Amino acid sequence: MNTPDIFVATCDLAGQVKGRGAPGEAYGSVLRSGLGWVPANLGISAFGSIAPGSAFGSTGDLRLMPDEATEITISDGPATTRLRVLVADQTQADGTDWDCCPRTFLRRAINDFREQTGLRVIATFEHEFVLEGLPQSAPFSLRRHLDADPFGPDLLRLLTDCGLAPENWLPEYGANQFEITVEPSDPLTAADRAVLLRELVRDLAIRRGLRASFAPLQEPNGTGTGVHVHISLVDDGGNPVLLDANRPGRLSEVGSRFSAGILRHAEALTAWTAPSPVSFMRLAPDRWSAGGIFLAERNREALLRICPTSSAGGSAPERQFNLEYRAADATANPWLTLGVLLRAGMSGIVGGDEYPEPDVFPETAGPAELKDVPRLPATLQDALLALEKDQSVRSWFHPDLLATYLAVKRHELAHVAALDDAARIKAVSDVY
Ligand code: GLU
Ligand code: MG
Repeated sequence: MNTPDIFVATCDLAGQVKGRGAPGEAYGSVLRSGLGWVPANLGISAFGSIAPGSAFGSTGDLRLMPDEATEITISDGPATTRLRVLVADQTQADGTDWDCCPRTFLRRAINDFREQTGLRVIATFEHEFVLEGLPQSAPFSLRRHLDADPFGPDLLRLLTDCGLAPENWLPEYGANQFEITVEPSDPLTAADRAVLLRELVRDLAIRRGLRASFAPLQEPNGTGTGVHVHISLVDDGGNPVLLDANRPGRLSEVGSRFSAGILRHAEALTAWTAPSPVSFMRLAPDRWSAGGIFLAERNREALLRICPTSSAGGSAPERQFNLEYRAADATANPWLTLGVLLRAGMSGIVGGDEYPEPDVFPETAGPAELKDVPRLPATLQDALLALEKDQSVRSWFHPDLLATYLAVKRHELAHVAALDDAARIKAVSDVY
């Protein structure tokens, strides 16, 4: 068989996977010196046009330097074309870091987290998506699971073959909605897997005559489609440090301080984690997405949910215990999503009195107890304004990256400004 061709991939500010291909024979040289790339790509919106105000114009050249550890081979049975895909950093021409590369942003956040807290992060992205082209069926039903055959088993095999470690594949609540989870890992692997998983799902759906959509909504009153980011912390010896059975919600002091950082910067964070013109229609109370800025035990309306543990079969709780950030969706870049969550959590851990420990709402807290929790931004416009006002969050980014991000997001808002809700949702769903 011929050597499969290669594709070297990055993920842009609109969360879209881009890159360049080369013949399989060039594999060795591409691994050594990468492929050419342009900074201007960061200034392109989800709808495909260059955002006015982008910091990157007609000049400048970069390299896409592949990370060998990320390589996957996409194939769909022996008769199909195979393609080796590698995830890359965008670097300067000499291979050194480029300050505006989203993957580099996460790598640096991971290193700083370790240096400043002495802790390591374990993470995973849980993805929901809608499979268009299947019959209607009941939420969570075996019927829906069977209707997705052979897509479901083929997806599990593909993800396993690609080393993405699938965990659960399930029919979800929303119309034609499914969910796929993968095993927790180090944070860079988790975000790389999220980048690749979305493309693998979309590609397999096309091959099976279906269409997969990761857009946050399909219709104004429909169920939301989210990405939930699960995070736990371990010490240098790999021992979990989030659980303390004697504290509210069983959340340790370091877990509480980590949460304080995320809650404190939540409004600005959502500008990175739920960044499409329709993302904030999903993030409302009574949608089981994230209905407010609060930390709660096992509550699917919380921005930060303390997840349950199970003792069935004698499992120990410490390694299962994790925090779930629920206000993300697949219009966001996974490297930036996880990077800002780590930076915010780290601010809480090292920030002392400036980050008081937050309330942990118990599972029993109802609407009366939760009525005063702060709201999430109502729109992407509001989230972008919150980002501009949050000096700490701003300081995490190179000014060119921040300016270009704001320009891209405002260009996307302008693109759909004249549309009604249903048309705006469709415009976003068409590109995600
Ligand atoms: N579909 C919900 C969302 O928009 C999540 C439901 C669940 O908890 O899995 O985030
Ligand atoms: Mg779900």
